Amino acid sequence: MDRSPPLPGPDEVRGPRCLSDPLINKGTAYTRDERVRLGIEAMLPPRVEALDEQAARVLVRVRGKTSPLEKYLYLSALRAENETLFCRVVLDHLEEMLPIIYTPTVGEACLEWSSIYERPRGLYISAVQHRGRIAQLLRNWPRSRVGIIVVTDGGRILGLGDLGANGMGIPIGKLALYTLCAGVPPELCLPVALDVGTDNEPLRCDPHYLGERERRMTAEPWDALLEEFLAATQAVFPGAIVQFEDFNTACAFRLLQRYRDSLCCFNDDVQGTGAMGLAGLYTAGRITGRKLSGQRILFVGAGEACLGIGNIVVAAMQREGWSEAEAKQRCLFVDSQGLVIAGRKDLPGHKRPFAQDRGPLPDLSAAIENFKPTALIGASGKGGLFTESVLRAMARLNERPIVFALSNPTSKAECTAGQAYAWTDGRAVFASGSPFDPVPFGGRVHAPGQGNNSFVFPGVGLGLLICGARRVTDEMFFAAAQALAAQISEADLEQGRIFPVASRMREVAAQVAAAVAAVAYAQDHATKPRPLDLRAEAARVMYEPRYA
Ligand code: NAD
Repeated sequence: MDRSPPLPGPDEVRGPRCLSDPLINKGTAYTRDERVRLGIEAMLPPRVEALDEQAARVLVRVRGKTSPLEKYLYLSALRAENETLFCRVVLDHLEEMLPIIYTPTVGEACLEWSSIYERPRGLYISAVQHRGRIAQLLRNWPRSRVGIIVVTDGGRILGLGDLGANGMGIPIGKLALYTLCAGVPPELCLPVALDVGTDNEPLRCDPHYLGERERRMTAEPWDALLEEFLAATQAVFPGAIVQFEDFNTACAFRLLQRYRDSLCCFNDDVQGTGAMGLAGLYTAGRITGRKLSGQRILFVGAGEACLGIGNIVVAAMQREGWSEAEAKQRCLFVDSQGLVIAGRKDLPGHKRPFAQDRGPLPDLSAAIENFKPTALIGASGKGGLFTESVLRAMARLNERPIVFALSNPTSKAECTAGQAYAWTDGRAVFASGSPFDPVPFGGRVHAPGQGNNSFVFPGVGLGLLICGARRVTDEMFFAAAQALAAQISEADLEQGRIFPVASRMREVAAQVAAAVAAVAYAQDHATKPRPLDLRAEAARVMYEPRYA
């Protein structure tokens, strides 16, 4: 019998590249035959491992690291070597791993980015060096097809402010979630940091800072750079979806307004967070027994996240019978300068539509006494704003006060889960942007939900991909919110959980994707033939980390 291994196929990659391309590399899982055939014999230790055995070994290493940042670095190194193995380990332990590869650890990684930087991933487009040549530079990307681009200019990274080029951790982290949570193949994902300078002076003065040491570009030159970048994305990767991520507020709203009708683009901080917030209010309403139209919502923060939730909530309340003006009266916003009211001269255009005709109030507690909210939603980027007196006031006014502390990372949460339950006598219906452990209080264990747009954007992206959408519409995010809310069972609600557990991310993403694609077909924004069963199609195309 001929025992010689089969000859390599005509397109098969051979030699050391088998070990250096993370999308191909199997490491110790290459069989003996493969090692001979591909010319990599003796380049690996003798024993052949199965993927599961490799994953078990990696897990021991990750768990052995003492800090979350060390775990992040180890997993990043693994990913640069073997994407399949990285995805297998993280996907099989999502609840444990998401806080490491995403919030809160990704925030720490961005703060330290220049000092922990080890290897290239994604594209850094510099306003100083690359203006006028962006299309040419996008062609440096080693993959010819790109489905989703996540781009930031580092203007407002999580609640950590302007981090310039150090913001790259966010597009990388978001795209990891696309792959892990919605099965978008890693080779279709392109993270981009647009380095337009930074107004973060300590960063500019940091000798290790790796970005341009310029003040942040603004106004017309910034607009022109974005115009060039977006045109280049479509010239080089036609039809690629563009997700705007962690731009500062004014830029974010301007970008969305300018490009939403001409590109397949969306802003996750505004629209994704909006859909997540609406889903949370729907499920919280099942506990409090109050429909959305019966809620009075006090938003603490009037930036991308809170206004994003406000916009979709007003549209949803209109579906329940209120006029737009009536719905807006049920949403009151507080920002760093106080109540968002018509009398204020400093209000930028994106806050004006929510300015109410009422007088100023001295603080948050006064706003609660005066407005009598049923729900308190914080996305201010300021940790600890929900003090004991604020939460006790909410508990006095409501049998089941809804409290969302959405700011990231954990240090910026408006309150902790423990505080939310303790200061409302265990009655709060609570969710937070970054995860908190279950809290024992009053003889039962409360399971806080993670109110994070990671339940929305991966499924939205997958939905847009499966139908080949040309545009992203508000109706798609409304459908995404409904699909997410429908994932919460009565058993979840009994534990006080109003968002799914992280381990169900893929199931949720398939439902969200199907809902989004259905809207695209109904609104005639789809370019691919409609599959019979959208949910099944979403599940079918999901990337599974296993070796070819
Ligand atoms: P942003 O900069 O656009 O808005 C922040 C808002 O908070 C501004 O209106 C500001 O005036 C207000 N603010 C600041 N200090 C305040 C104070 N003391 N009292 C009241 N308001 C105050 O930022 P953003 O994009 O809206 O994000 C805000 C936070 O929400 C960040 O921490 C971000 O990580 C988080 N976020 C969470 C999610 C999620 O899915 N959980 C999604 C998006 C954003």
